[in-house]
Amino acid sequence: PLAQLADPSLLKTDALINGQWVPGSSRFAVHDPATGAHLADVANLGPQEAEQAIAAANAAWPAWRAKTAKERSTLLRKWYDLLMQHQDDLARIMTAEQGKPLAEAKGEVAYGASFVEWFAEEAKRVNGETLPQFDNNRRLLVLKQPIGVCAAITPWNFPLAMITRKVAPALAAGCPVVIKPAELTPLTALAAMELAQRAGIPAGVLNMLCADATNSIAIGKVLCESSVVRHISFTGSTEVGRILMAQSAPTVKKMSLELGGNAPFIVFDDADIDSAVEGAFASKYRNAGQTCVCTNRFYVQEGVYDEFVAKFAARVATAKVGNGFEDGVNQGPLIEEAALQKVQRHVDDAIAKGGQVLVGGKRLNDLGSGQFFEPTVIAHASADMLCAREETFGPFAPVFKFATEKEAVDAANATEFGLASYFYSRDVGRIFRVGEALEYGMVGINVGILATEHVPFGGVKQSGLGREGSHHGMDDYVEIKYLCLGDI
Ligand code: ADP
Repeated sequence: PLAQLADPSLLKTDALINGQWVPGSSRFAVHDPATGAHLADVANLGPQEAEQAIAAANAAWPAWRAKTAKERSTLLRKWYDLLMQHQDDLARIMTAEQGKPLAEAKGEVAYGASFVEWFAEEAKRVNGETLPQFDNNRRLLVLKQPIGVCAAITPWNFPLAMITRKVAPALAAGCPVVIKPAELTPLTALAAMELAQRAGIPAGVLNMLCADATNSIAIGKVLCESSVVRHISFTGSTEVGRILMAQSAPTVKKMSLELGGNAPFIVFDDADIDSAVEGAFASKYRNAGQTCVCTNRFYVQEGVYDEFVAKFAARVATAKVGNGFEDGVNQGPLIEEAALQKVQRHVDDAIAKGGQVLVGGKRLNDLGSGQFFEPTVIAHASADMLCAREETFGPFAPVFKFATEKEAVDAANATEFGLASYFYSRDVGRIFRVGEALEYGMVGINVGILATEHVPFGGVKQSGLGREGSHHGMDDYVEIKYLCLGDI
């Protein structure tokens, strides 16, 4: 698939430090999850190169922060334009290494680029404050200044958007960045770096360290332990988030963490069921269930339970699974074998504990060597099942039955996670009650998809710290400074 790029020079396999492409002393392989085909060998860097990248970023910082907000904005805007001009090629690279259907990949390029556009605009609005004086001989001011060298560690499920959502506000605020993209999807990330170079982002302001799984851990340690790096932004598992927090404690780093979710999706008796079915389908099966905001648990009130599960199962049965490059495919492969085995474990556990399979339930073996799993719906789910507690991160929908509003809210909140949640209701009182009672950073009401660049994305509890996107998305990349001016 990569032979058909309109601009083959977007296919980069070396890392980027201080404006130079760095081949590294060894390489690691990247594969297509739909076919198992080998796509490329990418530079495998280690701690020494991580130190070099941090030093390059630190050296580039004074000139970058000294640019006017408008100058930084113009460069970001150029990067945005280039990302959109190369939307088709970026999507091809993404589908090849990540597996999501090509239409979804194009959507992610637009979504990822939108953060660059948004923060190009926000760069000009990092406003300070003047405060009322407590003494007429003084004047009190608040400045917002760039925090310093930032590090970003990103996952494979959104190979572009998880980078731009962190990097764009950092650059806009006047901070240089060192990025460590996921080892499974470095090619989209490197193509984005090539476009940033073409846009004129200066050397050292944007650096990318590629590494295999082992070296990623070593590089992560260097980034956390460095006293030059002032901020770590991470999207990935809660488990790794905790490790990064612990490693960052000695240097008291500011952290933005977007970690696991266990999203509930509640359908009340008064809901529009057809709309709920469409929302459920979109929320569950996007990216084959591999997003941190994908629904993990469906709770349906007893009066509409049978109708909802019948319609939902029928809708899911229409989904076409296959290689993301094929026309009409709604669901691609899972990213790797371990991901598929986790889904199978959750499905088998649900069946063993009394779940009723309405559609799917097993691996699809007739689609070649990729990791394909049938879109699955299981009714009569119960709280003792693994899927009630753990994030499945795959195309499996367990449907639980409930009687009262309180029961649904309690079950939805009975988790250490708190990222996205969803519910369907037409009752305005209930909408406010439940919307306020759900312990989640984001609540979709009568919608199954809620992310966009100008809203605050993030979680509570062990789903993370900080918000990405929106005007709040700049907060983590600036420090607030108070100036007290006397002798006026
Ligand atoms: P996922 O569950 O999405 O695979 P992970 O949390 O394992 O997420 O990985 C997300 C990112 O974190 C990847 O870029 C991966 O290389 C990186 N990573 C994994 N473990 C560590 C670690 N101990 N230190 C630093 N980075 C890590």
